[in-house]
Amino acid sequence: MKFSTEALRHDWTKEEVLSIYHLPLMELVYKAATVHREWHAPDEVQIATLLSVKTGGCPEDCSYCGQAARYHADIKVQALLPVNTVLSHAQKAKERGSTRFCMAAAWREVRDNRDFDRIIEMVKGVNEMGLEVCCTLGMLTESQAVRLQEAGLYAYNHNLDTSEEYYDKIITTRQFDNRINTINNVRKAGITVCSGGIIGLGETVEDRVGMLRTLANMETHPESVPVNALARVKGTPLENNAKVDAWDMVRIIATARIMMPASMVRLSAGRIEMTEAEQAWCFMAGANSIFTSDAEKLLVTPNPGVADDMSMLHNLGLKPKAV
Ligand code: SF4
Repeated sequence: MKFSTEALRHDWTKEEVLSIYHLPLMELVYKAATVHREWHAPDEVQIATLLSVKTGGCPEDCSYCGQAARYHADIKVQALLPVNTVLSHAQKAKERGSTRFCMAAAWREVRDNRDFDRIIEMVKGVNEMGLEVCCTLGMLTESQAVRLQEAGLYAYNHNLDTSEEYYDKIITTRQFDNRINTINNVRKAGITVCSGGIIGLGETVEDRVGMLRTLANMETHPESVPVNALARVKGTPLENNAKVDAWDMVRIIATARIMMPASMVRLSAGRIEMTEAEQAWCFMAGANSIFTSDAEKLLVTPNPGVADDMSMLHNLGLKPKAV
């Protein structure tokens, strides 16, 4: 099977994507690596820092999430941080090589209140540092998206998590369509879209392919596609799910890279359970971004720290991507 990467496609069929996903692994990685080289510098990895600016106490019921109040996971609940605290984290992240700074608040949706005003101040401050600034705040109206864009927001993260068909097995407090609606509002405001999903939720390969098709068949591909392996959090309904197989991560990353060649594909949650060699396969398959963290945490789950990540990049002959 040949892939034309001269133009971005938005008409992927289920059969076509399944046949890519199930290619013999070496063939799949070779094809994805070839596409990757046509669109990106293969020795560059974007380093992003993710800071939880408001942690826990979320009213939603996402079955994988330790921040959902109803699961009583062992996390430290934290009200919205002061602007200065966030800006000093952003400054430190920049000094340690990050070019993208993402702020996450465990909210169902944004409300037009003083907390949102504070987020706007954070966005302005981080933008002035010359970092790509990204937020993930839950559902967003069009006018809220416009306010964020005017403050300098570069990207908004809103993951699909899984396929439309499997969505209600994972989350019941909102619908898949709500996700699409927020993504559309973000697009209309001229903010770039960061949207991906999680594997290891108990979904089938068809669900993984369905999620990728929803992303890749959008009128504009998300500029950033995070691929997460379930981080099993004690107290959540999915705490006893099986560990995600590294080869499944490699397959989904390679498939995403082939379908959305221009996008940044971010190897996100789950790296802590992967060896350096397994992560190297993910980079070979087309991942070109990671989250790193001073606190060795990705929101409320463990993540490799900056020093370990820099040492890994050095070992693999990779370098942090400039803005
Ligand atoms: S994933 Fe987000 S929306 Fe869902 S429970 Fe966690 S913080 Fe809330």
